[in-house]
Amino acid sequence: MKSNIESFLDLVKERNGHEPEFLQAVEEVAETVIPYIIENDIYYGKNILLRMVEPERVVTFRVCWVDDKGEIRVNRGYRIQMNSAIGPYKGGLRFHPTVNMSILKFLAFEQVFKNSLTTLPMGGGKGGSDFDPKGKSDNEIMRFCHSFMSELFRHIGHNTDVPAGDIGVGAREIGFLFGMYKKISNGFTGVLTGKGMSWGGSLIRPEATGYGTVYFAEKMLETKEDSFKGKDVVISGSGNVAQYAAEKTIQLGGKVLTLSDSSGYIYDEDGIDTEKLAFVMELKNERRGRISEYLETYPNAKFVKGRTPWEVKCDIALPCATQNELNEDDANTLLSNGCICVSEGANMPSTKGAITAFHKAKILFAPGKASNAGGVATSGLEMTQNSLRFNWTREEVDLKLKEIMSNIHDSCTEYGKDENGYIDYVKGANIAGFVKVADAMLAQGIV
Ligand code: NDP
Repeated sequence: MKSNIESFLDLVKERNGHEPEFLQAVEEVAETVIPYIIENDIYYGKNILLRMVEPERVVTFRVCWVDDKGEIRVNRGYRIQMNSAIGPYKGGLRFHPTVNMSILKFLAFEQVFKNSLTTLPMGGGKGGSDFDPKGKSDNEIMRFCHSFMSELFRHIGHNTDVPAGDIGVGAREIGFLFGMYKKISNGFTGVLTGKGMSWGGSLIRPEATGYGTVYFAEKMLETKEDSFKGKDVVISGSGNVAQYAAEKTIQLGGKVLTLSDSSGYIYDEDGIDTEKLAFVMELKNERRGRISEYLETYPNAKFVKGRTPWEVKCDIALPCATQNELNEDDANTLLSNGCICVSEGANMPSTKGAITAFHKAKILFAPGKASNAGGVATSGLEMTQNSLRFNWTREEVDLKLKEIMSNIHDSCTEYGKDENGYIDYVKGANIAGFVKVADAMLAQGIV
């Protein structure tokens, strides 16, 4: 006879069979949440998880724009409004050629649990486009963003849906998107987060996801009376999350050995220190260069083309690039090299096989929905500051971020600790995230 989990997943597959990333995210949640639902009468028999895997609304739209040669280009825009039980939809926009319904639905589904874990009143959503910002001029980016927002604006609002950045959407894109929203809505509201400091942004928002990922790893290490001090740390990616994960690691006394992009990784045996990291930030954020250019200034480092950095011996691994970038073989390599802690900065970077290997080895492993929640939490703090029309100081926001990461760690411990004291952070994050959303859905009835 089929188990409840198998029957549930069969049903979800029947409807979404062509969406592998979405099914992967649902499966991970179902495996830990369904047993909890069965044990708890208030949730049992109400099809709550079935309701949660169906987006409340999906919008797809045409985005036409004109490139610098005068050619008309056509992309596809999306917004998935997944769940608004505990607050307005909230989640980033991704501009990347791989963007499709499956990827955005997995991200939106994860976002519901993540936002719930922050304890702030935010529902879950995600959106974006298959537009590739790489190699485009600032004017092309502006024209694309303006066209994208000229349709998206009718579906969002500061009390309805508040998008933010994600892969390919940083401060520049948020600026162009906000400019068009303000013009056509005739209102200056906190409709987007990640805004510039002079026009409604929050201090620490750019740093928040990377810092939070490291704060979470620090809390996990504390359970073993350990810390970042003197540890070798391998980081993937070299975008927003990776840069600030590296910065905080250095501040806490860890040695950053690698950074990467989609072309390969750099390995600097001497460590990527503050000065070298400032070079990377300038290279990636201002010049929009490739990570391999690091070697032109720091020739002692190595560039390993077309590979991920998990083959480098380390104590701590922070995957901060993209989904499914760390597979079972990578996990086994990390484990045989003595890695003791993995904290995900990206969304779903570890495959199912990798997570199973980490759990089997009983190392510290944090899923992105818990460890990278600092970004959206600080977006929540940006929304609060916008409503108050007031700005908190850097220290105030950083302190709140640290507290939120610590509270998420406590929630994961509450629901994820087994009788031998091992904390399954995946189980803990899934159940803690589920409970708050499910309680709100039950209270609001069948809508
Ligand atoms: P950025 O666009 O700033 O950087 C993305 C980085 O990942 C780049 O170095 C990019 O390399 C690399 N990358 C992207 N796709 C691939 C791929 N297919 N293979 C290898 N490398 C790849 O994005 P962020 O740093 O903002 O986001 C990184 C991850 O963190 C994503 O999973 C995102 O969803 C997650 N996240 C981000 C938050 C935020 O606040 N920004 C909040 C929570 C989660 P290249 O330049 O070559 O493409």
